[in-house]
Amino acid sequence: MTLRGRLTAAFLAVAFGPVLLGAVFVASTVATVDRSRATERLAVAATAVRTSIDALCQQLRAAADAVALAADQAGAASQMVSRGLAAAVVVTEATGRISYATADAPPAPWRDCTASTPPGGTVGALAVRVELRDSAGTALGTVTAAQPVDPGLVARLAAVTGVAVTLLDGAAPPIQVAHTTESAGGRDAVLAAAASLGEEGVTGTPDGRYVRRAGPVAGQPLPLVLSVPSDQPPGLYAVLVAVVLLAAVLGVAAAWRLARVATRPLVELAGAVDRVAAGDLTARVPVRSGDEIGQLAGAVNRMTRETGGYLAALASSRDQLRGHLAVLGDTLASTHDLQRILRVILHSALASTGARAGAVLLTEQGGVLVAQCTEGLDGCWPGTGSPRVPLGSGVVGAVAATGQPSRGRMEPATVPSGEPGCRTYIAVPFAAPDARPGEAGPAQPADGAGPAVEPAGPAVGVLALYDRLGGEEFDDDDLVTLRTFAGHAAVAVDNVRIHEEVQRLSLTDPLTGLWNYRYLRESLRREVERASRFGRRVSFLALDLDRFKKVNDTYGHAAGDTVLAEFARRVRGEIREVDLAFRHGGEEFVVLLPETDTRGATIVAERLGAAIRDTPIIVVGHAGVRKAIPVTVSIGIAVYPDHADTGQQVLEAADEALYAAKAAGRDTWRVAAGADGNADPGTAGAGSTAARVTPPTRELPVPVAACSPGDGLPRAGLGGDPGAAITPDEPAGAGSAGTGRTGRAGGASSGPHPPGPGRGR
Ligand code: GH3
Ligand code: MG
Ligand code: MG
Repeated sequence: MTLRGRLTAAFLAVAFGPVLLGAVFVASTVATVDRSRATERLAVAATAVRTSIDALCQQLRAAADAVALAADQAGAASQMVSRGLAAAVVVTEATGRISYATADAPPAPWRDCTASTPPGGTVGALAVRVELRDSAGTALGTVTAAQPVDPGLVARLAAVTGVAVTLLDGAAPPIQVAHTTESAGGRDAVLAAAASLGEEGVTGTPDGRYVRRAGPVAGQPLPLVLSVPSDQPPGLYAVLVAVVLLAAVLGVAAAWRLARVATRPLVELAGAVDRVAAGDLTARVPVRSGDEIGQLAGAVNRMTRETGGYLAALASSRDQLRGHLAVLGDTLASTHDLQRILRVILHSALASTGARAGAVLLTEQGGVLVAQCTEGLDGCWPGTGSPRVPLGSGVVGAVAATGQPSRGRMEPATVPSGEPGCRTYIAVPFAAPDARPGEAGPAQPADGAGPAVEPAGPAVGVLALYDRLGGEEFDDDDLVTLRTFAGHAAVAVDNVRIHEEVQRLSLTDPLTGLWNYRYLRESLRREVERASRFGRRVSFLALDLDRFKKVNDTYGHAAGDTVLAEFARRVRGEIREVDLAFRHGGEEFVVLLPETDTRGATIVAERLGAAIRDTPIIVVGHAGVRKAIPVTVSIGIAVYPDHADTGQQVLEAADEALYAAKAAGRDTWRVAAGADGNADPGTAGAGSTAARVTPPTRELPVPVAACSPGDGLPRAGLGGDPGAAITPDEPAGAGSAGTGRTGRAGGASSGPHPPGPGRGR
């Protein structure tokens, strides 16, 4: 049953119930009072009937007595009749013979007034009989005075009592009406009611009359039925029923209306909630009143509006996040620029968590975290420049040191030194994928939120966010989100490092760790172009080990390799960071000196020659025998743009100069001939001949403009050091073919000088 149905029934019960009860009460009360009054009236009427009959009998007795006492009985009788005291007088002798009778005697049978148990049957008249006796008391006969029981008598009784009177034809059933004052229509009903009544009982008839018997009893021998009409207003029940029905109709209508009014807002509410449940957040409930339902409708509207707002914000944030993820994906796929990748990761993390500021820090050598990129922290981080946090210091340092994420709130007074001023923070460490905790490390988070990043020990970096918008603390969801981004950062760092390593490997020579020929070509192009653009010089040194074939032949190929690696190490040790050393192939090398002219190049050549020559290279020969091999190098020098107009030409010029150095007896350097075919003006008379002049020994400062190539690559050979394992535990000078030097710079070295023909190319 619906609520409206229940409310209708309830309202109906409340409104119609009392009306119905009232109607029943009124009807029953009216009926009771009416019956009681009718009973009372009938009782009074019965008494009046009895009194009247008794008076009539007394009158007849008086008349009979008067006739009996009269000497002239006939005359007296006539007088009684004429005076109306009796309708008839009959004088009877003792023998039973009627001696006198007045005329117009009423029809028999006559009922004696004194009869206590009146017989049934029709009553013609009421009579009183007195006996005639002489003085001696002898019975002489009787005198009977009679009054007819006719409609007139019944009418008089009705007039006296004020009720309808009916004289029955005998008291025994089947009773019939002798005379009555009832209407013809009510006679049968009264007769039917009287048939079932005792002497004192009162009953009602279907037509609304009350009926009782009155006689025959002693002193009132007539079988009479008295009846009075009901005092009830006519149509009372009809009115009551009509009222009840009207009340019922009105009650139903009112109840239905009330129920509808009461349930309509609920129906509207349910409809709106259904629409909201189906996803229509524009649904609103009409607020029709300020009552509880109105308040509920208002609350639902507010809730729907707020939900719509939240959904819109969520959708916008989702779109934003999608955009950030797209940018992140594109960035990860398209670049190995670590700074850029970390910046995009930081922006995505900020957008995902609603943080105001953040930073990505990477652990650098020396146990210090250095911020790679920051957002919203300008002026917040103590100190200047790139924020640096020692491992273990402050929140970020502790996170990096322990490898455990951290989040919480910082009161301004308790912000640790080295931390940016903020109210809330969250920091997640990340490790390179191959350094992630495996079986021995902490359990991987089971949230499936990207790669696990928490390292077992110190992290490679930390992703930290500050000041969640709204002032609330970062929660576990933020931690999960941040882990995802930290995982990306870890992979990005790893990828970039792998990429750098691959780059380095693809551009370096595995034996010596120097740049390879491929990178030489690239560097040649770049440096010549740079020098051309800025009007600078760049020098090229072509180096070739002297008589290296003999080293191989004498000590074996492995020893030759060792010599090559050690040679490379020494070359690296003699040049600046901005200079580049390449293995051109075999035992031929190139050194590129940016921002260096011929004079500077000769200084470096001299230094390199000395560094090789001065200390024989220790190798482990057959059967583990350690040997010190004297090695020298010949060097050709060419300078762009002094000796050639292109990179290739300047390399060839350096080769030519190297050839000249070889030709000059090796273990020396030569400068390429100038573009006009003459010796270089800066070293005229020295570099281009075997008999060099002493080159300047003063170190040339690197110009301010000089810098490492902007290729983002690591410096070749700075990592590996193949020759470093060899300790020169044997004295130098164990070489074989050295015959002395043709020229010395600074005179610091005394190593052997292997003589020989020109370059063996
Ligand atoms: P010079 O240059 O003084 O004229 O004499 P050279 O003996 O060095 O002459 P050449 O250039 O003919 O010999 C180069 C030798 O270098 C030949 C080869 O056996 C050796 N060589 C080239 N590459 C390697 C290498 O990677 N390892 C070793 N061990 N030897 C190499
Ligand atoms: Mg050689
Ligand atoms: Mg060679």
